[in-house]
Amino acid sequence: MGRDGEPVGGPTDADWAAAVEAVRVLRADARVLLVCHVNPDGDALGSMLGFALGLRRLGVRHLQATFPGPAGAPEPFRWLPGVELLVPQDDAYPAPDLMICFDAASESRLGDLAGRLATAGTSLVLDHHASNTGFGRVNLVDPHAAATSVVALGLLDRLGVTLDAPMATGLYVALTTDTGSFRFEATTPAVHEMAARLLATGIRPGDISRRVFDTRPFGAVRLFGEVLGRATLEPEAAAGHGLVWAYATRDDLARHGQPAYVLEALIDPVRCTAEADVSCVVKQSGEAEWAVSLRSKGAVDVSRVAVGLGGGGHRFAAGFTGHGPLDEVIATIRAALPPPSYPHP
Ligand code: 5GP
Ligand code: MN
Repeated sequence: MGRDGEPVGGPTDADWAAAVEAVRVLRADARVLLVCHVNPDGDALGSMLGFALGLRRLGVRHLQATFPGPAGAPEPFRWLPGVELLVPQDDAYPAPDLMICFDAASESRLGDLAGRLATAGTSLVLDHHASNTGFGRVNLVDPHAAATSVVALGLLDRLGVTLDAPMATGLYVALTTDTGSFRFEATTPAVHEMAARLLATGIRPGDISRRVFDTRPFGAVRLFGEVLGRATLEPEAAAGHGLVWAYATRDDLARHGQPAYVLEALIDPVRCTAEADVSCVVKQSGEAEWAVSLRSKGAVDVSRVAVGLGGGGHRFAAGFTGHGPLDEVIATIRAALPPPSYPHP
């Protein structure tokens, strides 16, 4: 981070060269393990699988992709090209020749797979979080990139891989996920230029958006109704910028017969709230454990809030893991938001 907490830098020429070298030196029988962050989203899975298909094009034969936690891609991503490369974390090469990490800002986001960093021959980190700790042997971290797939495509280009539709599909899912379908601030001309390149391979954006963003079981529609019905608005919170929060428990999921992934979309209707700059969804992930999603419209830097609570993310979108009863987790968030004296931009 530079002055004012603005992200600086991006990969240097030497970083790119080292990353290209790490792939080029692989022997024909080399084992390559790709890993993305726990509870993977479209950027994590899409950039990992798109890149994996590029490596396969280069002739890498022993190739696995994985992530910590329960095996199997969440339903909205099961159709992604390259999904057949996914293995349960316990089946992942114990000592790969090369380990490549996607969209993970820190080792902790790799769960039990973080140990592979020590047993791998070498490691490469592809990411776009300003808070990235640089935990790889080679780190390609571009805080200005809208998605990790921007970095992934940058490396595929430098490796001389010709983009095709299956590769482009994952990279496009990643780009649309992290730009909120080209609505967020990160949607630069370069983002649209990359989208144009991806679309030129013949992929179908309508089909992709419907599968990833606009399809959910009816039970999830009912569950959202219930959860949104008890959302709470605190206009005085966050130095008067306002906080809106909603929560969902494992019991809520069970009552509606829904898997946990459906809750990933819950932040979207919550963050529409006009009266709140900060929005928050608290999702129960264990007996007294909660996955917290934070969003901001700009007055509050939620990355700073999340980092302070042991998590990470970006200025407008961040998260952390909360512990204890729900009301304590909410109180912790409230207390971590800027006090009335906070200098707002
Ligand atoms: P989401 O709310 O969509 O899960 O995550 C929003 C952003 O916050 C993403 O950039 C994600 O990587 C980051 N994030 C979410 N949860 C955590 C967490 O527990 N730890 C860290 N370091 N980052 C998180
Ligand atoms: Mn991302």
